[in-house]
Amino acid sequence: MESKYSDNSIIISGKYKFTLVKNLPVKYLLNIYNSNNRNDKQLFEYVKENIDKIKARSSGKKTVEIKCDKIAYVSRKEARFHLKRIRETGEQEHKKPIRSYECDKCSAWHLTSMPYEVWKELEKTKP
Ligand SMILES: [Zn+2]
Repeated sequence: MESKYSDNSIIISGKYKFTLVKNLPVKYLLNIYNSNNRNDKQLFEYVKENIDKIKARSSGKKTVEIKCDKIAYVSRKEARFHLKRIRETGEQEHKKPIRSYECDKCSAWHLTSMPYEVWKELEKTKP
């Protein structure tokens, strides 16, 4: 028995591999629903159960708080794995991410191409 997807589940295959369910593009989710796409059964079930929420998101109503629009990874390990992969595959030729960091907005992990020194300077200017 496979467990159900929640907002914080990670997609384990396909185009959005290693993306948190809540960070998937609304269009992508609506498309799954509208086309009755059951390639990923768990994801389909998730979409079906949360369709109202997803539709609300697509219409721009702020019923669901989305803290961060960056691709989120659940752990440093996960982020580093992805970082390594991107560097090795030559994917994302411009603005290649160079490090991972824990986000203070959504508490997930993101990748950034900003050097640590630059980021630190920017942090200083924040209120
Ligand atoms: Zn974030």
